[in-house]
Amino acid sequence: METEKSAAQVKEEYASMMVRAKLVSAITLLLISPRLILGFTDLNSFLGLNYVTALIPMLLGTIVYVVFFKKYWRCPACLELPGGGWTRKQCKHCGVALR
Ligand SMILES: [Zn+2]
Repeated sequence: METEKSAAQVKEEYASMMVRAKLVSAITLLLISPRLILGFTDLNSFLGLNYVTALIPMLLGTIVYVVFFKKYWRCPACLELPGGGWTRKQCKHCGVALR
């Protein structure tokens, strides 16, 4: 049986999850940006990608984002979704302090 995590341990695990979440968001943004840049400017290509091929990194970025948040966005204490937002202080499921 799993032993209960201490409050400090929960906060520490949540903090490292936040670091990963920010990293994943940054990577996703980077992968989506060629498509956005091509969509909002009149450039014909960006970084060697055109409007169609820019869909590939965009799709990849979306998959990485969805998989990460579905799989790893969990409260360290109850393993349920703690709720969204970068500034969350408490798990909305079990109420544990996250930071
Ligand atoms: Zn929780």
